[in-house]
Amino acid sequence: MNAPDNAQKTQPALDVAHVRKQFPVLHQHVHDNKRLAYLDNAATTQKPEAVLNALDRYYRYDNSNVHRGVHALAARATQGYEQARARIARFANASEAGTVFTRGTTEAINLVAYSHVLPALQPGDEILLTEMEHHANIVPWQLIAERAGARIVVAPVHEDGRLDLDAWRVRLNARTRMAAFVHVSNTLGTVNPVAEMVAEARKQGVSTLIDGAQAVAHIPLQFEDLGADFYTFSAHKLYGPTGFGVLLAKPELLAAMPPWQGGGDMIDTVSFEGTTYADGPARFEAGTPHIAGAIGLAAAIDWLDAQGLRAAKAHEDALLAQALEAIDDVPGLQLFGTAPGKAAIIAFNLEGAHASDVSSLLDMQGVAVRVGHHCTMPLHARFGLSGTARASFAIYNDADDIAQFASALRKARDMLR
Ligand code: PMP
Repeated sequence: MNAPDNAQKTQPALDVAHVRKQFPVLHQHVHDNKRLAYLDNAATTQKPEAVLNALDRYYRYDNSNVHRGVHALAARATQGYEQARARIARFANASEAGTVFTRGTTEAINLVAYSHVLPALQPGDEILLTEMEHHANIVPWQLIAERAGARIVVAPVHEDGRLDLDAWRVRLNARTRMAAFVHVSNTLGTVNPVAEMVAEARKQGVSTLIDGAQAVAHIPLQFEDLGADFYTFSAHKLYGPTGFGVLLAKPELLAAMPPWQGGGDMIDTVSFEGTTYADGPARFEAGTPHIAGAIGLAAAIDWLDAQGLRAAKAHEDALLAQALEAIDDVPGLQLFGTAPGKAAIIAFNLEGAHASDVSSLLDMQGVAVRVGHHCTMPLHARFGLSGTARASFAIYNDADDIAQFASALRKARDMLR
């Protein structure tokens, strides 16, 4: 029998004051004693004490290289690194054998491009992207397409920031070797119907890669149910350390992929006559890895799980609605990305003002937002823009952040008239 999803309904609301206390960086003042309202979370999130402590503990007591030593510290470091793999795989509903550690989303996408797609890429083949991709999910494909004489094909977005799914479907065909698309747009906040897209691509035998950089901290990930071939994300957008990320892959695909970087730890045997390679994730983790990165990400996942991902998402959705209401009557406000169900990201401009001037004025009032093209130049070009300001919300943002943002934006508007 299907019981109602009481777990969701009875989950306690997030205690944001309690959450905020765990982020030391938030409790500072900037520019002449202005309270800090950190709204640059799509660029990177802050780290809770639990993550800071895990990193400190690792370097203070366990630091050693992994996989290569028999001494106590080497064993502890290796255990921490491999336990982190198990934890991260469980969080993503993926297998450990399909969980590869990388430097981040960017490296993970490059790995798939060079090791999975390029070896079989032929002149005239196509790689299907969308207009809302981050440069990390454009440039690696362009690089390999140039080498092989393949083509990049792009599906457009609607005026409100939704993907034009019909146009995407039309572009999926027998020549498509890879369909790579973003789960949540870092500029528009659009949440793409990734399960539906994977199902469509699979029907046509097309490989899929989902760029989950902006999704993992907000949407529960079920990699195995999704059926995608690859899914990528970065620890630093998930309250974990920078310089660390994950490629989730179907293990059978990894088994068929050649290494893409050579070095220590990715081999089975080495001789000058020839080298054989390790199986599984190790084949793609050449050199000393970011051990603390793995341990820090596992700590971040433990921490986020304890807060409740659904509670975090509900909190962020409420913040988005409050923020949109609070800035609604700012004269000349232009919003980019208004798709239904969008994530808590607001890209905006003030008519007649430069986004960089707006962002600097916000900064002077303690409000940290991002400005520029947010590594989505083609998307900005589609809207005829060179840049926008972007406010993005995370689990620790609160009503004071929103009030400060709205009042700072009004002030900026007055000053830029
Ligand atoms: N894709 C998206 C949607 C992103 O937002 C980002 C980070 N801005 C990336 C890819 C690249 O992530 P990283 O720089 O951590 O590799």
